[in-house]
Amino acid sequence: MTPRNDPAPGTEPPTGFAGLGLDPRIVTALAALGYEEPTPVQREAIPPLLAGRDVLGQAATGTGKTAAFALPLLHVLTPTAEPRERLGALILVPTRELAMQVAEAVHKYGKAMGIIAVPIYGGSPMETQLRQLKRGVDVVVATPGRALDHIRRKTLRLASVKVVILDEADEMLDMGFAEDLEAILTETPPERQTALFSATLPPRIADIANKHLKNPVRVRIDREVVPAGSAPRVRQVAYIVGRAHKMATLGRVLDVENPTSAIVFCRTRTEVDELTESLNGRGYRAEALHGGLSQEQRDRVMKKFRANTAELLIATDVAARGLDVEHVSHVVNYDVPTSAEAYVHRIGRTGRAGREGVAITLAEPREHRLLRNIEFLTKQKIDIATVPTVADLRARRIEMTKASLREMILGGQLDHFRAVVDSLAQEFDIMDVAAAAVKMADAKDGAEAEEIPTISLRPERPVSRHERAPTPKAGSRRHEAAKAGKSGAKPSTKAPFDKKRITPEWDVARLYIGAGRNSKIRPADLVGAIVNEAGVDARAIGAIQITDRFSLVEVPDEIAEGIIETLRATTIKGKRVPVRRDREQGGAG
Ligand code: AMP
Repeated sequence: MTPRNDPAPGTEPPTGFAGLGLDPRIVTALAALGYEEPTPVQREAIPPLLAGRDVLGQAATGTGKTAAFALPLLHVLTPTAEPRERLGALILVPTRELAMQVAEAVHKYGKAMGIIAVPIYGGSPMETQLRQLKRGVDVVVATPGRALDHIRRKTLRLASVKVVILDEADEMLDMGFAEDLEAILTETPPERQTALFSATLPPRIADIANKHLKNPVRVRIDREVVPAGSAPRVRQVAYIVGRAHKMATLGRVLDVENPTSAIVFCRTRTEVDELTESLNGRGYRAEALHGGLSQEQRDRVMKKFRANTAELLIATDVAARGLDVEHVSHVVNYDVPTSAEAYVHRIGRTGRAGREGVAITLAEPREHRLLRNIEFLTKQKIDIATVPTVADLRARRIEMTKASLREMILGGQLDHFRAVVDSLAQEFDIMDVAAAAVKMADAKDGAEAEEIPTISLRPERPVSRHERAPTPKAGSRRHEAAKAGKSGAKPSTKAPFDKKRITPEWDVARLYIGAGRNSKIRPADLVGAIVNEAGVDARAIGAIQITDRFSLVEVPDEIAEGIIETLRATTIKGKRVPVRRDREQGGAG
């Protein structure tokens, strides 16, 4: 990453996207989405991709990597042929969730150019996907298993594909998709352009890159060096929340933290505007600051913030760059910043001049890795906190009420009210009179709140490779079932990821799944279904045995019921199959 100079106050920062050589229609679409400038991975990956080079990129979710490969891809496609019968790009991703997200992103960026992108994943009806494929699409975003199904049925033809993207390649390998990837890649034209993105680059990824990428440009954004001691010593906390609950969480956290003055950072202008409106609706005095404002508007906003007539400043990185504020009590990252450098820059606004400061980050579960990366680079700990509950909020409110009452008592001038107490005391216990008054004062101070669902970090993907896997339980019967491994029926398979599997420290349950080799079930299908449908980390899945008629899969006992329920409600290889706990550990189902 090359450090950028702060623009002189008063100059409109360049969007930067046009400078990367992107089509003006794409630049316009990005401006409409509120993107102000490229993220580091975009700055590095877009030019070589536009030049037709292969790219090997190391970047985690949350760095903006989707746009990094999706935007150049749109250049290659630019659909002209009608009706659309040629598929131009294939994007392979590990999970259904990601397939949907990436297809949505491609659609968003390429709307003005009439690009059609469809997600293709297991567990959803083949028919709908067939219809979409038949109608003609420019981009297919698929999970490997389902892509291969379609290729074999000849409903997905890759002969015209110009670009192939492997997204979150390490995850795909973890899920046992290595063979599928090979099979799919051999179906694509050798002259295609290929990009591979992965959060980590273990040797297995390097092997794939060596084999399938041609002299790739390497893009790595986490090599940035954050100078030692440059991050201020402030309390750093993060909340892990689903996208849908972010706004509510922000409100709750602000209510509990009660900042005197805070900057809330967002990624896009659109987000800045939405948050500002919503926070004002919650009774905060919030002002928006982004690159779309004129200098005059910016000055007005800053004046209010400095004079403390606005307690919250909602800003993009670009707009806040040249900002000169002495001190804020809180910095809130509504999104995890796309680089550690940006994080350090943002939180440097608080904790100045030896004063207390708090830096709060809201991260989506998938962005957990990005957070760890920031911790690693800044060499400072970010505590993961749970979202304050309604009870926390009440406790906090009571505390404030108590503090206000103390002040009022100390302030005196209560004679008039003493008379009221006196008269009520004739009738009631004086303690009850006081309690009722406190209740009234407390109730005045805010509406009833609703509980925000907390996301516990399940044994799922957010851990990075060098970290220890989460341990649901120090079980007494650790991994017994796996060691026993003696199935009545001849087991025919190996676990596909022996090397990588974490040593389980949880009780193991064995699930019976009523489909096997006869239904063409492979380990990756089972892993895919469990990971995609139940949101379980592939590495928490133990040994898999596949017989002709059924399969046995080991999963952490603690989450077994949830997995069973989920698998019963979905399809595996297009069919509903019986799923239950295996009756005899080691026996046939
Ligand atoms: P990703 O790492 O691809 O999952 O992207 C993370 C988020 O950042 C997505 O919500 C994108 O919409 C957003 N994003 C990507 N690039 C930019 C950008 N240049 N400016 C602002 N937001 C961006």
